[in-house]
Amino acid sequence: MVEELFQEQLQHWPVVAENYAGLQHILWKEISFDSFEIKLQFNPERIRSSAAKTDEKSIAQRPCFLCNRPPEQKGIPYPPSYLLLINPYPVFPVHLTIPDTRHVPQRIAGRVQDLFRLAEDLPDYTILYNGPHAGASAPDHFHFQAGNKGFLPVEHDIHFFPGKKLLRKDLLGSIYYMENYLRTCFVYESNQLEWLLSEFDQLTRLLHTFQPSEEEPMLNLICWKEQENWQLIVFPRSQHRPRQYYATGKEQLLLAPGVVDFGGVLVIPRKEDFDKMDKNLIEDIYSQLTF
Ligand SMILES: [Zn+2]
Repeated sequence: MVEELFQEQLQHWPVVAENYAGLQHILWKEISFDSFEIKLQFNPERIRSSAAKTDEKSIAQRPCFLCNRPPEQKGIPYPPSYLLLINPYPVFPVHLTIPDTRHVPQRIAGRVQDLFRLAEDLPDYTILYNGPHAGASAPDHFHFQAGNKGFLPVEHDIHFFPGKKLLRKDLLGSIYYMENYLRTCFVYESNQLEWLLSEFDQLTRLLHTFQPSEEEPMLNLICWKEQENWQLIVFPRSQHRPRQYYATGKEQLLLAPGVVDFGGVLVIPRKEDFDKMDKNLIEDIYSQLTF
């Protein structure tokens, strides 16, 4: 179903054809840390998203790009009120945007079950969520994203990283913590939807007590299904963008890290930033943004 949509859009929407073809020639760099890697993707087309002004005033003044979609963009309705769309500015080989059809704010409350259901219905994809102040470029219009399974290093790391520690295991599921992983990361594994919903609810309530002025605790989520188990990855956040984003001159870095970056692929739209990136800078950026 999604594959057919993707083929249709490749054929009938030149921007999609061009940008997905462009992905083949993109530059990559890998930086090794202790037993895991961070990948850097130089992706100039992502400048729109990275440079997007997401303060309330700018958001109120711009036409919403999820409401005012190009006529070439086709979508598949997904109940109760979502649309599966091909993202014309991809990071993944197939990159979906999954907005609500209504212009309603980016809030995860009441939608976690949709995240799990999408993971079940799109078995070749990981499903992604950016909190409104944790990397989302449209905090005023609810949307999930999805990308090909196997693309984000965290999918591999949760099985092989030696710093993965069991926090709790009961009859219904397990909770892990990734130690010394540059970013705070919890892993929930279970085939029991009710358990996952209840555990996620408890975690967000706890996190919210540290960030009471936020509408919801700042976080990025990644979810996919593996055999009968869901894997839910939670990255609690403390900042939307790093200090260097607001700097001028040489210190400036045009990075707006969201869920993909926390999954282990740093998306970098400017070549000078891509060239400059090293271990220290990566450590610095994650340490500013993680909770
Ligand atoms: Zn909208």
